[in-house]
Amino acid sequence: MKKEGKLKKNMAAMALALALLLTTLIACSADSASDEDTEETAVTELHAAFSAFNSDATTIFLDGSNVVIETTGLPDHETVYWGEGNALYKEEPDVDRTPSIMSSNNNATTITVDATPNLTGSTVSTQLNTIGIAVSGASIFNDQEGGGPLNQAAASLDWTGAHIGPGVYHYHLEPKAFTDDDENLVGILLDGVFLYGRKCTSTGTYPTDLDSSGGHTTATQYTDGEEEYHYHIINELYSTTGSYLAFAGPYQGY
Ligand SMILES: [Zn+2]
Ligand SMILES: [Zn+2]
Repeated sequence: MKKEGKLKKNMAAMALALALLLTTLIACSADSASDEDTEETAVTELHAAFSAFNSDATTIFLDGSNVVIETTGLPDHETVYWGEGNALYKEEPDVDRTPSIMSSNNNATTITVDATPNLTGSTVSTQLNTIGIAVSGASIFNDQEGGGPLNQAAASLDWTGAHIGPGVYHYHLEPKAFTDDDENLVGILLDGVFLYGRKCTSTGTYPTDLDSSGGHTTATQYTDGEEEYHYHIINELYSTTGSYLAFAGPYQGY
């Protein structure tokens, strides 16, 4: 009997929470472009992996069944692209620098992703521009550069596989500033799936069961023993760069 009473209380609390949520959703619907996500269950807690993100650059919060990631796009590591005089400027004489530097560009980006990726088996190609946000706060791009293959622009990539163009500073290759042949978290992609380094914490080595996107389902350092689908940087050298593509797609979680 006692248990039942508690259950009823919980249900009443949930109903109240739902009513509040609905009120919020209705209030927000005027500036919401799509209502396709409203059928999904609201998530009540941010994924533990978000604790690894650079809090100076990013603001991350739940919005119903979505996670919103706002970032200044400014990474917390050294690169030649900060420009001389900056505390994080790194001299990289071999980098064929683009005309843009960090301090002259607006790197800010906001992405909204599903808090629970939609892993139904259908895949979606990645596009030019931001395909995810790294733990450093900067953007992740795919294997394309201005509609062509990346290797034509490879000379402008800095020590951590990134460069800056007319748009934001972004990584194409394994971002060695925070993952270098290890199992560290790299970031989150637009389909809501987390991307990790070349090794997996579940085995401590290169996974051998990856799908074509570099994904598989195991526990990670942020899932408390629960199995969860995630991507890895695929352990195959890209072109003549001597490094590894961050993510070429396709997305599995849209
Ligand atoms: Zn690029
Ligand atoms: Zn893994």
